[in-house]
Amino acid sequence: MIKAKKSLGQNFLIDKNVIKKIVNTVNIEKKNVLEIGPGTGNLTSYILEKKPKKFFAIEKDNELAIKLKNKFKNQINIINNDVLKIDETKLFEDDVIVFGNLPYNISTEILNKWIINLKDNFWFESLILMFQKEVANRIIADFNTSNYGRLSIICNWKLNIKKLCDIKPSAFYPKPKIESTLLFFYPKKNFIKINDPKNLEKITRIFFNQRRRMLKKPFNQLFNGNQNILNNLNIDLNLRPQNLSLDTYYRLTCEYEKLIG
Ligand code: SAM
Repeated sequence: MIKAKKSLGQNFLIDKNVIKKIVNTVNIEKKNVLEIGPGTGNLTSYILEKKPKKFFAIEKDNELAIKLKNKFKNQINIINNDVLKIDETKLFEDDVIVFGNLPYNISTEILNKWIINLKDNFWFESLILMFQKEVANRIIADFNTSNYGRLSIICNWKLNIKKLCDIKPSAFYPKPKIESTLLFFYPKKNFIKINDPKNLEKITRIFFNQRRRMLKKPFNQLFNGNQNILNNLNIDLNLRPQNLSLDTYYRLTCEYEKLIG
């Protein structure tokens, strides 16, 4: 068996039932597919069986990329590169289904990059992604809970998110110390329009910088105590960042964009 590289977050899926569950989440036949981090190709083979239209896979590990090219020949386009450096929106002419048993050390960075870069047209029709359970819990957290924060707010802005299942460490080789969770993301038809998503990043960073502090300080820093905004959005400054709903953060970002012009 191949020696897994910890630095690249290599935990290969070996449980066939889990692999089948992932692949059967959506209908792949004649659809474009992008796989992030195909590794030894365990998930890749099953995706291929479902006869996708165009199939790209991005693998950073040089050694594995060569093996994958030999194994799958011209059935898949293997891109030997870092997913964080690729413009995946340019790979396909129409919508894509994205699969990824993601390297845990960069999973939130990948997702953040995709969401922040989203234009009005989505380049994917769904994302089926594996996360460390603790990270997945932060992504799907409701407001008024301790897991709620920047990640939940950014991820839920333009995407519907469903938890598919938790996955035990024994489904992987080598066995990770933590549990994993499979999430399914698909575009929202309606979402609050924000001109520059970087402003959403900024607002959430400032509000959640000190999550136990009351809202007064970050609000005044950004909005100079503007009473109209407080009234319109029904915000009580004695609350804490986790007590504001998703929509309140999106609307606060719109107000911020109006202020900065
Ligand atoms: N999909 C395979 C599976 O389920 O068996 C492997 C999953 S493993 C958790 C993560 C994979 O992502 C590894 O093959 C690793 O080499 C690759 N990887 C790590 N960092 C990457 C990056 N920045 N860009 C692309 N691939 C990366």
